[in-house]
Amino acid sequence: MVRHLLYSILAAVFVSGALVASGHAQEAAGSSSVRVDEPLHFTYLGAAGWRISDGNVVVLIDPWPSRLKYGGGGHPDDDRPDFARTDAAWSDTTLIDSVIDEADFILVHHGHFDHLGDVPYIARKTGAKVIGTETTMMILRAYGIPDEQLYAVGGGEDYQFEGFSVRVVPGIHSALGEKHYHDSRRYDRTTQLEAPLRIEQFIEGGSLSFLARFDRHEVLTMGSMNFIEREFEGLEPDILLAGINGSRLGLYDFDRRLLESTGFPPFVIPTHWDNFRLPYGFSQQPNIERNLIPFIETVGTLSPGTTVITPIHLEPFIVR
Ligand SMILES: [Zn+2]
Repeated sequence: MVRHLLYSILAAVFVSGALVASGHAQEAAGSSSVRVDEPLHFTYLGAAGWRISDGNVVVLIDPWPSRLKYGGGGHPDDDRPDFARTDAAWSDTTLIDSVIDEADFILVHHGHFDHLGDVPYIARKTGAKVIGTETTMMILRAYGIPDEQLYAVGGGEDYQFEGFSVRVVPGIHSALGEKHYHDSRRYDRTTQLEAPLRIEQFIEGGSLSFLARFDRHEVLTMGSMNFIEREFEGLEPDILLAGINGSRLGLYDFDRRLLESTGFPPFVIPTHWDNFRLPYGFSQQPNIERNLIPFIETVGTLSPGTTVITPIHLEPFIVR
């Protein structure tokens, strides 16, 4: 029954996405003189990655289409090369070009490879403004991204851009390694980095969330299965990108605290729920069963007025 419900939602999402001419939003973006009034277009890029556009601006979040097989956790049918954390970082630029055309902004939650790994190439390709921690900025500088594109933030900033504003929300990283994970390392102007970095040099550098304000909607983003309750209180987004991978289960009453502190948003969209070491097109069934289905059930109980939209890789959908 639950699985049937999930697939019904997936089908509905796909249909609503298919009804929209997504090319329209892409053409309109960048023409700053005439603002359009459109629903919000979403495309899930996998891991914590998104393309979001209201027809006026294109915002990418943690875009990482490369989905390299690294550090274990791959699939035996995946015949792509294995990367060790000590290997040089690499981006599948052919794949990226097929998925990402343009961008005005890139929001980066933290510096880990599955969030930042493709941003050097995408920032150079699109000329997008990148907002993230100083650690993230130092990695991008190592790749030659000019300062004009870089906005280092620490959390608490609230920036108005043309047609788009973003409030930076202090965060904390997922409680990896059964809650033993903690990494206080940071990069700053004194750090010597040389591109290409090794995968392991993509350090966290602190974690953020973003309240991304579009004309019709305010989207609160998560790049981790963790958050600071008091930082979320009062934001009241109407769309929450909820980080729901397995490590959240080690936290106290995660789902209830998340929904309560965000004011029981009308729309919740799970993010970072997939196995991001698998390429697009591989089955995500284990993660659907482990992460998505229980979360959808819990939201249904805790917040019956919330619509959970379950995203599929690369299939666009809209929120009106
Ligand atoms: Zn991380």
